[in-house]
Amino acid sequence: MPHYTDIAIIGGGLAGSITAGMLGRAGIAAILVDPHEIYPPDFRIEKISGAEQIGRFRRTGTADKALHRATLAAENWIARFGYVLDRAPVHQYGILYDALVAAVREEIPDSVLRIVGKAVAITLSDDRQSVMLSNGETISARLVVLANGLNVGLRHQLGITRTITSPAHSISVGFDLEPVGRPAFPFPAMTYFQERASARVPYVTLFPIGERMRANLFAYREVDDPWLRSIRHKPVETLDAALPGLRRITGDYAVTGEVKVRPADLVVNSGTRMPGVVLVGDAFCTTCPVTGTGSDKLFTDVERLCNVHIPRWLATDGMSEGKIAAFYDDPLKTACDAWSLDKAWRFREVSTGTGPYWLAQRWARFAFSLGRGLRHRIASRETNSRSPDERSDIRGLTQGS
Ligand SMILES: Cc1cc2nc3c(=O)[nH]c(=O)nc-3n(C[C@H](O)[C@H](O)[C@H](O)COP(=O)(O)OP(=O)(O)OC[C@H]3O[C@@H](n4cnc5c(N)ncnc54)[C@H](O)[C@@H]3O)c2cc1C
Repeated sequence: MPHYTDIAIIGGGLAGSITAGMLGRAGIAAILVDPHEIYPPDFRIEKISGAEQIGRFRRTGTADKALHRATLAAENWIARFGYVLDRAPVHQYGILYDALVAAVREEIPDSVLRIVGKAVAITLSDDRQSVMLSNGETISARLVVLANGLNVGLRHQLGITRTITSPAHSISVGFDLEPVGRPAFPFPAMTYFQERASARVPYVTLFPIGERMRANLFAYREVDDPWLRSIRHKPVETLDAALPGLRRITGDYAVTGEVKVRPADLVVNSGTRMPGVVLVGDAFCTTCPVTGTGSDKLFTDVERLCNVHIPRWLATDGMSEGKIAAFYDDPLKTACDAWSLDKAWRFREVSTGTGPYWLAQRWARFAFSLGRGLRHRIASRETNSRSPDERSDIRGLTQGS
C-alpha cells in the first residue's frame, strides 16, 4: 500500500527541512524523505548574516531554534592591507550546517511523516505523482517538491538538463583558527579583503561558532591548481602568502582540525517546467558561495512556495504544468535568483579583473569601507560622550528600529 499524502518532499537538507516545517505547521499533509536520520557533517553555509538574510529566514517561521543555537557576533571588523577599516555593527549568526539542519528539523511537527530512505524513481502526471523509495515503499502525492541538492540522478531521470555555466567558479575553504601566544583574537568577527588581485583570494571571513574561531576563505582557482594542495597541507604559509597583512591584526595563529576544500560550479537546469514536480534550493540552481546568497535563494524559494503557491495549487484539482509555472515566474523568486547570480559574476570580476577599470572599482570599495568606518567611529564617539541616561535612550531607540 502506498503512503497517500498531498506533498512528497524529496531531500531533507536546509530547503527540504524548512519546507516540511512550514507545510506541517500550515496543516498540509506532507512526507519528508531523506537518507539520513541525522544530517551528517558537511561544509556548506556556516553563517547567516545581515538583516535581509535573517529576515528571509524568519519569514519561513522556522528560524527560532537555529538562530538561538547559533553564535551571535554583534560586530564585524572590515580589514585590508593589515589595517582595520571599519568596526561594523552586524548581526552574524555562526552555526555549522549539520547543526543548522538539525535545528530546522526540530521545527517539523509530528504530523509530517519522515521516511529515512532515498527516492529512486518518480512518475509524474497532471493529477497524482508516484515516488518509489529505496526501501521498496511508494508514495502517492499530489505534488513532489524536489529538494535533493546537487544529486543529479532524479533530475536526469525526469529529463531535466543540467548545465554547468561556470565550472569551479570559486573554491571555498573552511577551517578553524586559533590564536598563538594569547588567549583570544582581538576581534569578535572579521572580514579581511584581498590585497592583490593576483592572489585570487577575494576575502576570508572569520567568525565565532561556540568557542571556535571559524574561517571561510574563498579563492578563484582551477581545480587542478597546486594552490589547493598547498592550502590543504600548509594552510598558515599559504594564507600568509595570499593575505600578508592579515597577521598584523590576528597576531600569530594556528590552523586546527581538518581543512575542507570545496569547488563550486554555477549550475542551471532547463526543462524543469512539468506537471506534478517543483524544484527548490540547490536542486533548482546553485550560486557561488563567495556571495553568501545561496541561503537567500533557498529561503525565498521555500517561503514563496509554502506561503503562496502550494496553498493555491491545493485549492483546485490537478497539478498541471501551468500551475507549477507560477512558482518559477514568481517575481520575488526570479528577482532573488537574478540578484544572486549577478553577484556571483560581479564578485569574481571585481576580485580578479585586471586593468584600470577594475583597479578603480577595488579602490572605490576600499574608500567606501573606510568612509563607513569613519562614520561608525564618529557615531560611537558621539554616543560615548553622552550621559549614561542618554546612552540608554539611544540604545533603546536603535534596538527598536
Ligand atoms: C562550501 C559551501 C559554502 C557555502 N557557503 C554559503 C554561505 O556562506 N552563505 C549562503 O547563503 N550559502 C552558502 N552556500 C550554499 C548553501 O550551503 C546551499 O545553497 C544550501 O545548503 C542548499 O541546501 P539544499 O537543501 O538545497 O541542498 P542540500 O543541503 O544539499 O540537501 C539535499 C538533501 O537531499 C538529500 N537527497 C539527495 N538525493 C536524494 C534522494 N534521491 N532521495 C532523498 N533524499 C535525497 C541529501 O541527502 C540532502 O539531505 C555554500 C555552499 C557550499 C558548497
